[in-house]
Parts: sequence; C-alpha cells; structure tokens
Amino acid sequence: MVTQVSPESLSLFPETARIGSNGHLYLADLDVAALAREFGTPLYIYDAATMETRCRCYQEALASSYPAASQTAYAAKAFLCTALARWIAAAGLDLDVVSGGELYIALHAGFPPARIHFHGNNKSTDELVLALDAGVGRIVVDNLDELARLSHLAAQRAKAVPIWLRLSPNVDAHTHAYRKTGLLDSKFGFPMANGDAARAARQALQDPYIDLVGLHAHVGSQIFETTPFIETVEVLLDFAAELRAEGLDLRELSPGGGWGVRYTPSDPPAPIAPYVASLSRAVAAGCRARGLALPRLILEPGRSLVGPAGVALYTVGGRKAIAGVRTYLSVDGGMADNIRPALYGSEYTAIVANKADHPSQERVTLAGKFCESGDLLARDVLLPRVEPGDLLAVPVSGAYNLAMSSNYNQAPRPAVILVRDGTARLILRRETYEDLLARD
Ligand SMILES: *Cc1c(COP(=O)(O)O)cnc(C)c1O
Repeated sequence: MVTQVSPESLSLFPETARIGSNGHLYLADLDVAALAREFGTPLYIYDAATMETRCRCYQEALASSYPAASQTAYAAKAFLCTALARWIAAAGLDLDVVSGGELYIALHAGFPPARIHFHGNNKSTDELVLALDAGVGRIVVDNLDELARLSHLAAQRAKAVPIWLRLSPNVDAHTHAYRKTGLLDSKFGFPMANGDAARAARQALQDPYIDLVGLHAHVGSQIFETTPFIETVEVLLDFAAELRAEGLDLRELSPGGGWGVRYTPSDPPAPIAPYVASLSRAVAAGCRARGLALPRLILEPGRSLVGPAGVALYTVGGRKAIAGVRTYLSVDGGMADNIRPALYGSEYTAIVANKADHPSQERVTLAGKFCESGDLLARDVLLPRVEPGDLLAVPVSGAYNLAMSSNYNQAPRPAVILVRDGTARLILRRETYEDLLARD
C-alpha cells in the first residue's frame, strides 16, 4: 500500500494546517519546528479550531435534522485530560466515561456530574459508589448483575438512579473485529435474542430505586456507513414499542458513537452532517411508525471529534536502507504512544514537517523505537529525502493514541499541547524518569 504524500494529504491535517514560506508545517499559525524545540518530541498537538468545528457540526446537524431535544456526548476514552474535559464542558457537550479513572478526571476538572454518562461492561462497586455519590447523570447498565448491584446501592441511599440499558442489537458493523461491539457474541450489553434485554427492562421498571430513562447501543468504531446505525435504531425502537405496554417510556435514545475518520487518502471521506441527518430521520420516522413520542436523541462521538484535531510530531533518529528491500526511518516514539498499527493494522501517512514543500523522493517505512518488530507507524510512505533530526508529523493522531499509551520500554509518555490562534498551551506535561519511579 503506497501512501502518496501530496498537498492533498494536508487535508488529513487539522483545518488550520498550512505550509509556511520556510517550508515548515504550521498549525494554528505556529511553526511546528518551533513547537518541537519548545516542548520536545514526541509531541501531541491538538488544534482547538478543528475540535470546535467538529463539535459544532454534531450539534448543528442534530438541531437541524432532529425535530425534538438532542445532545452530543463526547466519549472521553478517545482522549481525556483536565483541560479537554473543561473544553468539552464549555462547548456544551455531555461526557461519556467508561471507568472510575475517567470519572475521577472529569470530576476533578469540574465537569457537571449530571451531564456525565457512565458506561462499561464491568463497573466495580467502588466505581458505582463514586458515580452515585457524585450524582452522575446516567448509569448505562450492561448486565443483570450490575442492575442488581446498582439497585442495592440505590436502595441504601433511598434515591432512584437514572439509567439506560445497553442492548446488544446483533448488528454487524463492518469494521475491524476488535472494534465490533454490537454482535450477539459480544461482551457488551444485554442480548435480545435470549430474552435478557426484556428481563432487565422488566426488572428495572418494577424497581423503585431504578429510573429507566432510556436505551443505548454502541455497535462499533471507525464505521463509514449509516446502515448499521439505522439497523440499531430500528432494533432499539422495536424493543421500546414491545415493552411500552409494560410501562417502558422511552425518554432518551442513544445509538452510540463510532463514526469513522479518514486516516489516509485511501479511506473514504466521512462527513459528519449527512450521517447525523440520516440517523435523525431514522429515529423520527421509526418513532412515528410505532406511535412513540420522540425521545431525546443522544449521539456519542469520540474518534470523529478529536481524531483529526491531533497531530503526532516525532524526530527522526536513524536511517537504515536495505538495498532492494526497504528503507527504515526510526523515530523517537512508536507503539508506546500509538499502538493502533500494531493492534489493528491501522495505516497512517506522514509529512516531513520541516521540509513540507520538498518533493517526494523515496519510499520509506516509519519505525518506532520500541522492542517489537511490529512497532511500525507507517509502511511505504513517500517522503522527501529525510535526515536524522528532521521532524515527522503524523495526522489524525488525536483519538486512541495517547488514550492507549503505555510506558513500554519505560518510555516517558509524550507532552500534549493545545494550539489556537498562534498560542500553544501545555495541557499534559511530558513524563519524566522520576515519574517512572513514582509508584516503585
Ligand atoms: C467508545 C465508545 C463511543 C465512542 O466511539 P468512537 O468510535 O470513538 O466514536 C461511544 N459510546 C460508547 C458506549 C463507547 O464505548
């Protein structure tokens, strides 16, 4: 797979990306070579304008295409830190968390607890207690054991807990097997075929300490077609209609997140607005057909909000040319900050950030610095002649890179900056060697 690096591939970069007259990549009017000098590499750069555009796109598309209340909730697991949680709160989005740790960061950031939804297939009692005591807005219940545990905790507090049920709609999203979450054979959610979903709903409806507010499903990630989402909506609405007679009042409906982003020019474009509009139409028409009142519609994007806003910046160290075979360029990061190529076979492009105006001359493979042969960031990328010390910028690095990062090989995790209108703000400092010993 050859990835052609042309001006076209700047289109994968944040919306403020441009090439300066010095041939350098600029983001938000900042020369990334200067950012590398100031903050070091590997460096993760988030472009505020791109995140803002994408948030607005979701909110406006929902408002214009769905004829009732709606909301966008950012799936924090794509990337979270205090500054980002505050940014999401200010943008007016709700927040999805999937762990006590994410919840802790959100609460530390002052995120309004009532706007937090707590997902996850195995929330511990401690995590549920943290959520209940904080007043988290929705607990998304995943299985019957959790429902029983939650009911008990709520009874102790003599206060009904607002919940959604996560259903497993048996819908096949066409994406990598590790990113499919909606099939019958999945660890997530209540299966419908074996009656568990109906059992859970009946139990919740009869429980004075459980307030069943809505239904949820999330069928996968990095999905480029609307069909699986529309199928999911149909399944959820059928379920709501079936249980209406038993008292289920569908006040909220969340068909999850999962919309894809382009990582390379060979990926299809994935505009947000038409996806949101077709989902909105499916919900509105589906409710009308079943005589259901329109629920509040909640979408939960993670990747498509922050993925394209992020750029990973690396410094090239060694070059290894094996004649007739391959040329490796090794960079100062890799699988510890981006496991996606090794985990999913994900593909990336890159440009030479300090030679962005030079013509492509050679085909290279970008290798990480970690002790695994699979630690390759991108294969067969066409680049100008690269020398040690040059900077490589990898676009679409904002989602599930740092969120899945590790200290493999005792690598300190990279610094993260947020750039906007010519200003860079450090939002996560680089880890130090002392940090590596902090728990030791
Ligand atoms: C991960 C997740 C999302 C977001 O998925 P993306 O592919 O990043 O949009 C939304 N909802 C739930 C429940 C999730 O687990």
